[in-house]
Amino acid sequence: MTNSEFLVIAHRGASGYLPEHTLEAKAYAHALGADYIEQDVVATRDNELIVMHDIHLDRVTNVAERFPDRHREDNRFYARDFDLVEIQTLIAHERRADDGIEAVFPNRFPTGIGEFRVPTLRQEIRFIQGMNKATGREVGIYPEIKRPAWHRNEGFDISRHVIQLLDDLGYRSRNDLVYLQCFDAEEVRRIRHELGCQLKMIQLIGDNSWGESDTDYDQLRTAESLAELAKTVDGIGPSIMHLVTLNEIDGQPVSLGLVSAAHAVGLKVHPYTFRADQLMPGFDSLPEMVAWFREKLGIDGMFTDFPDLT
Ligand code: CA
Repeated sequence: MTNSEFLVIAHRGASGYLPEHTLEAKAYAHALGADYIEQDVVATRDNELIVMHDIHLDRVTNVAERFPDRHREDNRFYARDFDLVEIQTLIAHERRADDGIEAVFPNRFPTGIGEFRVPTLRQEIRFIQGMNKATGREVGIYPEIKRPAWHRNEGFDISRHVIQLLDDLGYRSRNDLVYLQCFDAEEVRRIRHELGCQLKMIQLIGDNSWGESDTDYDQLRTAESLAELAKTVDGIGPSIMHLVTLNEIDGQPVSLGLVSAAHAVGLKVHPYTFRADQLMPGFDSLPEMVAWFREKLGIDGMFTDFPDLT
């Protein structure tokens, strides 16, 4: 059942070792042998595309210290409210919890040291292309368009801009080493059928409780929806929690059938997120957990914070 073309996707870079979405984390992911390196993409006030997981800057940079008055009513600091030159003055750090102090993953890189920066999408892709040239190893990119409906409401068509930039940098056909991903199913259809994007695409599948988009993810996981999805995308990116449940008797993972249902209609499955410091119960190490998902479920790749432990 094991797929020989198994893809290791470095989730926000080698984010288990260095602060997420910094060029340092991307360089390390490249060095550790990742097949693809992920970019989450949001827009600045001056319509530049930056690599940042949240539409907010405050969990992973010192924006609140540097620009204390620039938050919205919800006390969050939005990338969309800052020009790129301002964001380029920020120090990026390991992700902190909602209190702004505690590290989300306390055993990772310390939150208080380092001179990391927030890269633009163009800078990061050029950087990966440079490493590809220098090493002779062709590592792909795996950009995610974040919150397209929110960006549109802010007056910015982020999808169109991302596709244009990728085209500028040489990514335009399905043979190119790129997967484009998004949680918003309506936007994924638009990107493929209205904007005419030819790239390999992944429909991300979240949980309805997260409020990530208007997409109904319970519906999206049904056989009928997967068959429909296969007309638009090359694969799905579900959460691990949507692939297995834990057996009530022995606590062991049991398949929920989503991988085989996706494979039945020709969709690849790239689940997220495999973390050595957040193992599923029943596994003692990340390599053991990865092996189980490959051998028992036949997943085609995975997002991991630890590209070496696979
Ligand atoms: Ca992502």
